[in-house]
Amino acid sequence: MFSTMQDGSLTIARILEQGSGPHGASAQVITWTGEGSRRRTYADVGRRAAQLAHALRGLGVTGDQRVGTFMWNNAEHLEVYLAVPAMGAVLHTLNIRLFPEQLVYVANHAEDEVVVVDTTLLPLFGKLLPELKTVRHVVVAGGGAAGLEAPQGVQVHDYEELLSGQPVEFDWPELDERSAAAMCYTSGTTANPKGVVYSHRSIYLHSMQVCMTDGMALSQADRALAIVPMFHAMSWGLPYAAFMVGASIVMPDRFLQPEPLAKMTAVERPTMAAAVPTIWQGVLQYLSANPHDVSSLSEVVVGGAACPLSLMKTFEEEYGITVLHAWGMTETSPLGSVSRAPAGTTGEEVWRYRASQGRLPAGVQARLIGDDDQVLPWDGESVGELEVRGPWIAASYYGDDDPEKFHDGWLRTGDVGHISPDGFLQLTDRAKDVIKSGGEWISSVDLENKVMGHPAVAEAMVIGVPDEKWSERPLVAVVLRDGQQVDAAELRDFLADSVAKWQLPEYWTFIDEAPKTSVGKFDKKRLRKQHADGGLDVTRLD
Ligand code: AMP
Repeated sequence: MFSTMQDGSLTIARILEQGSGPHGASAQVITWTGEGSRRRTYADVGRRAAQLAHALRGLGVTGDQRVGTFMWNNAEHLEVYLAVPAMGAVLHTLNIRLFPEQLVYVANHAEDEVVVVDTTLLPLFGKLLPELKTVRHVVVAGGGAAGLEAPQGVQVHDYEELLSGQPVEFDWPELDERSAAAMCYTSGTTANPKGVVYSHRSIYLHSMQVCMTDGMALSQADRALAIVPMFHAMSWGLPYAAFMVGASIVMPDRFLQPEPLAKMTAVERPTMAAAVPTIWQGVLQYLSANPHDVSSLSEVVVGGAACPLSLMKTFEEEYGITVLHAWGMTETSPLGSVSRAPAGTTGEEVWRYRASQGRLPAGVQARLIGDDDQVLPWDGESVGELEVRGPWIAASYYGDDDPEKFHDGWLRTGDVGHISPDGFLQLTDRAKDVIKSGGEWISSVDLENKVMGHPAVAEAMVIGVPDEKWSERPLVAVVLRDGQQVDAAELRDFLADSVAKWQLPEYWTFIDEAPKTSVGKFDKKRLRKQHADGGLDVTRLD
């Protein structure tokens, strides 16, 4: 028997109408300009999205053509985010920090026909353009289109000129909610990047999850500072979720360093913000020497890599800001789990829950797979690879068979950990980063977090290095805070209180800067290479 209910499609057009209609006058997108901000109401964003859709139709975007963006987080990027899927085309966010060969690969693989580019990124984009085989139109936002030399067959347009004079309403088509809305390539460090194609339905459901009270709890009362780039995992869903519920959004544009982030927080007073741990480490370090009023923030979301407990405690104890630890991947839209301690927990137990990756919501099922492919119990101890499935989890990659990544309808995350009977996920490592010492596993993430708990340490990375006796042992690479001094022996003594004796690292190195990936996470592959090439000055403790 079927239900008697209607089947209204879950599409981006509904999100666009809700944000620009009921919330049109009250909600704003605020873009940081370096000194101050420029503001646009959601009503204006809606009108300009309609103008953009008309203009793109004029450029031949009449179906599911891919429209790329090569942009920072700003108001224009939000307009493209809304207009392109709502008109039935497919948004492709290009990660400006990928290597040029990877960028060329993804733009050609996705067959981008139009690319919208920020003027400040033209020097970078201009070098790629001759290699982009399918691009016919480049639209430059922020002025300066005349500066771009276009290869034959490519037309260059100015964003504002293109919009000017276009109708401010658009008859958004009724689309199949399962059709493609947006795509994002994973920042693979070894093989070619893989394309994840989100549907209207997956984005809609994911946005609702972002807004749920036990999700990121985004509401019309919020002003969200979206530090996570819109070219990385859809800025963790914040742009669509904010538009859906009428939360205002603060966009940092290209000003992603600790100083402007502190300043825009003091001036624009966001209530919540989201970024990877390395960004927050930098902000906290800056704030300790340069106090700013960050009291408007009640919650910050930390994810993309494990959040060290020390980072959480500093936020909470020194600034009264609650840290929400979240786990996800490009393939999971990205919001998977969020960590809020169960009601009634107190004392240290609260920290234990909150430092974990948290609970998965009803929309995401999880299982742990052990060495022999058996499904492991949720007993808080059995460690296996996490597999997930659900309506906003990828089922395959775009035009690229990768059977390794998908397993009987489940996504293999490559993350390793355990789940407690009450559903809290605790990741211990990436499958490829776990260290096997004398047949026993050592969690590199656990060691990193503990070393980063030392007051002299800004950042710590741990990799496995070959060892004659144990086959592999941990090597800790430490970045000290400005003006701080500490040696390897002292750091190892510091760990001795909380780390089993056989796990205590004997290999240590001090580095000026931690190598990072295109999205700001520790790049262990580069550190391993530096070590293999003899580029690290390693101390061996007895
Ligand atoms: P990406 O697709 O670039 O966002 O990377 C996803 C990967 O980041 C995951 O598979 C995890 O390895 C890692 N990750 C994301 N969030 C967390 C977290 N809270 N704790 C530990 N690792 C995380």
